[in-house]
Amino acid sequence: MIKTHILGFPRMGEHRELKTALERHWRGELPAAALEVQAATLRARHWALQKDAGLDHVTVGDFALYDHVAQLIQLFGCEPARFGFTGGEPPLQRYFTMARGTVTHAHIDACGCGGAASEGVPALEMTKWFDTNYHYLVPEFDAATEFKLHAERLLAEVDEAIALPASPKVALLGPVSFLFLGKSKQDGFDRLALLNRLLHVYEQLLTRLASRGVTWVQLDEPILGLDLSPAWRDALRQAYARLGVVGQPLLLATYFSPLGDNLDLACELPVAGLHVDAVRAPAELLPVARRLPLERELSVGIVDGRNIWRSDLDAALVQLRQVQALRGGRLWVAPSCSLLHVPFSLRHDKSLDSELQSWLAGAVEKLNELRVLKRALWGDEAGVARELAESRIARANRIASRRVRNASVAARLNALPADADQRRSPFPTRQAAQRQRLRLPAFPTTTIGSFPQTPDIRAARAAFKRGTLAEVDYREAMKREIQLAVSKQETLGLDVLVHGEAERNDMVEYFGEQLAGFAFTANGWVQSYGSRCVKPPVLFGDVSRPKAMTVDWTVFAQSLTAKPMKGMLTGPITILQWSFVRDDQPRADTALQVALAIRDEVADLEAAGIAVIQIDEPAIREGLPLRRDAWAAYLAWATRAFRVAASAVCDDTQIHTHMCYSEFNDILPEIAAMDADVITIETSRSDMELLRGFGQFKYPNEIGPGVYDIHSPRVPDTADMLRLLKKAAEVIPPELLWVNPDCGLKTRGWAETEAALGRMVEAARALREAQ
Ligand code: GLN
Ligand code: ZN
Repeated sequence: MIKTHILGFPRMGEHRELKTALERHWRGELPAAALEVQAATLRARHWALQKDAGLDHVTVGDFALYDHVAQLIQLFGCEPARFGFTGGEPPLQRYFTMARGTVTHAHIDACGCGGAASEGVPALEMTKWFDTNYHYLVPEFDAATEFKLHAERLLAEVDEAIALPASPKVALLGPVSFLFLGKSKQDGFDRLALLNRLLHVYEQLLTRLASRGVTWVQLDEPILGLDLSPAWRDALRQAYARLGVVGQPLLLATYFSPLGDNLDLACELPVAGLHVDAVRAPAELLPVARRLPLERELSVGIVDGRNIWRSDLDAALVQLRQVQALRGGRLWVAPSCSLLHVPFSLRHDKSLDSELQSWLAGAVEKLNELRVLKRALWGDEAGVARELAESRIARANRIASRRVRNASVAARLNALPADADQRRSPFPTRQAAQRQRLRLPAFPTTTIGSFPQTPDIRAARAAFKRGTLAEVDYREAMKREIQLAVSKQETLGLDVLVHGEAERNDMVEYFGEQLAGFAFTANGWVQSYGSRCVKPPVLFGDVSRPKAMTVDWTVFAQSLTAKPMKGMLTGPITILQWSFVRDDQPRADTALQVALAIRDEVADLEAAGIAVIQIDEPAIREGLPLRRDAWAAYLAWATRAFRVAASAVCDDTQIHTHMCYSEFNDILPEIAAMDADVITIETSRSDMELLRGFGQFKYPNEIGPGVYDIHSPRVPDTADMLRLLKKAAEVIPPELLWVNPDCGLKTRGWAETEAALGRMVEAARALREAQ
C-alpha cells in the first residue's frame, strides 16, 4: 500500500489572511470569535487542498494562531507561573500574553535579533526553530511545573476535519523534543525530571484522540537529528516505550538533519511508523529502509519541504521504488518536513515569469507532486504521464537555461588565485597603515549602519515602486535623508560615520535586486514568527554584479563630511542564509559567486576613496549545520567566502564586519580567521559576558562590543555604557576597543536615537579621559 501525507501546512493562508486577522485582533478591531472563524476557514481550505491532492490523511494540530510550540504549552497546561494568570482569563488572551508579553512587546527586527521586553511581563523568549528562519516560543520549566491536559481546542479541530469529511492525522511535537526545546528556569534544574509527568498527559491525549476516531498521531522528534547526550537518548527510549503501548498508532517524525548515530535508536523505538528526511539525509534512506522492522510504516520525506524547487520526480520515483522493493511494496510518501517553511503557492506569482514559475513549487504545488508520485507508484504512470513529462521538461529547461549558467562567472571562479582570500599583509601591518590614514581617537565611536526608517522614507520608496514618484525625485529624497543623517552624526561627534541605509528596504533584498541570478516573488511569504512573514529572494542562477550597487550613495555621503564614511555591504553568507538558494550546485559554490560580486563592490568603494567598509554577516552562525561533525566544512567555506569578499583591498582600507544575536564562543577561531580589521557584535544584553570569550581566546583584531540594546526605545544611561565599556576593557586590550550600539537603528525613532548616541559619545569621551 502507498500512502501520502504531509507533516504540516503553512498557516497564514494564500493571501496572509491569518496575519491580517491577527493584527486586527491585536488592535482591538476583530473580536476573538471572528478571529477563530477566520482560523477555522483557513484550516478547512487547507484540508480541502490536501484532500484534493489525494492525501490519505489531512494533518490536524499543525495549525497555530501564533506558534505550534506555544500551542502545546496550553494543550499541556504548563503556562509559566510568572505570567500570573488566575485561570479566569480566556485561553486566547493568555496565549497572546505569553506570545507577546505585556506593555512592551517582544519583537525581532529584520536582522533576526530577538528583542526583549523592557517593562511589564516579558513574552516567552523566542528562538530559531532548528536551522530555519521560523522562530518558536520557548517553553519554560522548573521543578514546580505541572501538566494538565486541555485538549478542547485540538479535539475541536479534529472534529472539524472529520466533519469535512476527512481522515485526520494529528501532528504534534513529541514529548522529548518539547522538553529539549524548552528552557530550565531554575539553576541546576534538569527538565528531564519532568518527563514522567509530561508522558502522563501525552498518554491521556493519545487515548482521547483514539476514541475520537483518529487513526494516526504523528509525533515530531526532530532532536533525533541532533547530537544527543545519553540522557536524552534514554528519554526517547523511555518515552516511546510508554507511548507506544497506548494503542494509538504513532508515526515518529524526524527531519532537517541526518539521524547519524541516532539511526538505530530511531529504528528501534516501538512505534507504528517512522518518517525520515530523505532530502537532508538521502544517504540514510536505504539503511533505514533495511533496518526498520517490516511491520512498521516508513514515511519517506522526498519532496523538499525547505526549498522551493520543483522536484525531480523521476529521481524520486527511483528512490521510492528502491524502498518499496525492500519493504514489500509498502511506503508512505511525504515532504521532508512541514511545508511551513515554503510559500503557499508560486504557480501564479505575478512577479515571476512563466519560465521561472515552472521551475518552482510552493506548498500547493508540492501537494500535487505527492499526488503524482502516488499514482505513479500505484502503477498508474500512464494516468500521470502528462504531469511527469511536464516536470521533466521544466527540469531539463532549468538545467539548460542560459539564465542559470553564466560562463564568465564560471571562468572567473576557475581562475580565482589561491590567495584571493588573503589580505596583502597581516593584521598588525594593516592596523598601523589604517591608524596612519584614519587618525581616529582611542575608543573610536561608530554605528552599525542603518538610521531610523521613518514613515517618510517608507512612503517615498512605496511611491517609487508604485511608479508615482519619479526616480530622480526618489533619489533626491534619499539624498536629503543621507544629508540629515550625516549632519546629525557630525553634531553628535561620532568618529566613523555611515550614510544610514535610507535607500534600503532590506539588507538582503537590496543587493539581490541589483545582482544577476536573483528573482523576487510577489507573494512568496513564509512565516517568521507570529504574524510576521518574510519574502526571501530566490537565488536561481549564477550570480554576477552588472554594476556598482552602493558606490554613488556612499560617495555622496562622503562628500558631505571630512570624517571617514563607512561603506555598508551585506556579506555572502547572510545573503545565502536569507534567500531560497538554488539546489543544483553546492551552497559553497553559490556563496563564492556572491562573494565575488561583493568583492567587486568593495574594490569599487575603495577606488572611490572610501577608507572603511563594513561587510555585515549577522547570519553566519545560523548557517551552522545541526550536527557538529558538519561544522568544520561549513565554517571553512563560509569564512573563505567572507575573506574573498573582503580581501581585494590595500592595507590601509579598514574592513569591518558585524554580527548579532549569537553566541560566538564555540566558533571564535573561525570568526578570527575571517580576519576583519574590526568586528562589531551585540553584547549589551549579555552585560558584556559575550565578550569574555573573545578575551580568553585573545581575539587578535579590533572589536566593537555593543554598549546598548537597540530593541528598546529606552535611552541608555551614560554611566551604564561607561560601566559596560570598562568591563569590556578588562577583558580586551583597550587599544583594540570601539564604541557602538548593538545593531542597526532602523527600527528606532530619531529622538531616542540622537539622545542615545549623544550619551554613547559622552561615555567614549569619559573613557578616553579615564585612561
Ligand atoms: N548594517 C545593518 C543595519 O544597521 C546591519 C543589520 C543587521 O545586523 N542585521 O541595519
Ligand atoms: Zn545586527
